[in-house]
Amino acid sequence: MAQAQVQDKPRRAVESGVPDNQQYLHPLLKKNYGNWKYHDRPRPGVLHHVAHGGDEVWTVRAGTQRQMDIHTVRTLCDIADQYADGHVRFTIRSNIEFMLSKQQRVAPLIEALEGAGFPVGGTGNSVTMIAHTQGWLHCDIPGTDASGVVKALMDELYEEFKREEMPNRVHLSTSCCEINCGGQADIAIIVQHTKPPKINHDLVANVCERPAVVARCPVAAIRPALVNGRPSLEVDEKKCICCGACYPPCPPMQINDPVHSKFAVWVGGKNSNARAKPTFMKMVASGLPNNPPRWPEVSDIVKKILYTYKEDARAWERLSDWVERIGWPRFFEKTGLPFTKYLIDDWRGARANLNASTHIRF
Ligand code: SF4
Ligand code: SF4
Repeated sequence: MAQAQVQDKPRRAVESGVPDNQQYLHPLLKKNYGNWKYHDRPRPGVLHHVAHGGDEVWTVRAGTQRQMDIHTVRTLCDIADQYADGHVRFTIRSNIEFMLSKQQRVAPLIEALEGAGFPVGGTGNSVTMIAHTQGWLHCDIPGTDASGVVKALMDELYEEFKREEMPNRVHLSTSCCEINCGGQADIAIIVQHTKPPKINHDLVANVCERPAVVARCPVAAIRPALVNGRPSLEVDEKKCICCGACYPPCPPMQINDPVHSKFAVWVGGKNSNARAKPTFMKMVASGLPNNPPRWPEVSDIVKKILYTYKEDARAWERLSDWVERIGWPRFFEKTGLPFTKYLIDDWRGARANLNASTHIRF
């Protein structure tokens, strides 16, 4: 009977997901939803949409630091109230966009944004704001602060955000561990652990669910063990690929290390289907020091790749298209990056994996 009552009662939606966006749209965007005639870009950082009915909307895009304090958010909201009738939205790469119904407000808005330290750009063939993961602010497993790397790198690439001078758009990303958020990007900076985890045996029995940790390891390198008479774990270091997957469910398996947690740079990832299929990134530099607060070694390599691509790629080639055309040996020759044994996927399961390393080209 209880079962019948459950079935009679319609299941109610849990209202904790993304809200309906229509209620927040700029009135002109709502009115002309799906009814646009064309759009163009009068200058970097500004989009201009024209509807079939003749309505026009200007969108001004500015870069933000993504993780913002309340004072910065208030500054942006004040600018929105003053110039854009309070209408803003954020892009997936943490840019803020202001929608305007009057062209004469565009220039004063740009002046106000730049005056407050927010660069206007990121449209068309520019280097967009770097997508980054949560870092120390929100996550419990980072090996570095992703937002710190972003800040250091965007300071160096500031002008490339404000101009549209790349062959195609360039998406950059950073990840503060090897296994989670990240995602595909034209150039990605990813933490790279180089030593197996160190186990604090005194804590394992209190903190970790041992079967869950054993199951988590992708190469079956973890076994339950008795250490000093207490239940703990042990790692077969010959098998361990230093991925860090055991650390989130079992923090006593400490893998973050100031010296041995390093950075790797990957290139050629793409999510979109435009012009060519989506592609996976491939590692092109490894073992770079995790060197806050400016990470100069990482910036040098990213700039080397970026400016070689800018110089050498044909119009509209994404970074992956460019490498596909010239081939991986020429990529290493042109960028001057050394091809080392660390870039070869020599894991014994590699034959069955995604063939994501560069070695299949050699
Ligand atoms: S990339 Fe890893 S460490 Fe960084 S926020 Fe995501 S899950 Fe946390
Ligand atoms: S770091 Fe990865 S491979 Fe090594 S023991 Fe932990 S889960 Fe297994």
